[in-house]
Amino acid sequence: MSSPKPTVVKCPQCKQEVVWNEQSPYRPFCSKKCQMIDFGEWADEEKAIAGAPDMSDSDGWTEDYNS
Ligand SMILES: [Zn+2]
Repeated sequence: MSSPKPTVVKCPQCKQEVVWNEQSPYRPFCSKKCQMIDFGEWADEEKAIAGAPDMSDSDGWTEDYNS
């Protein structure tokens, strides 16, 4: 039995070979890390605006918890 030859691409970041199928959700990148590196190159200037004020302002309940 000969299985069909998988399509293999090279990760644009680290040049590692990535099999082009559903097992590689970050293709053409080999991993999420490499995808994020590439993402960061153009998303960098947007990060300044995107600084979401999430859980950093939770002092309110902390005082109540101490008493
Ligand atoms: Zn990579």
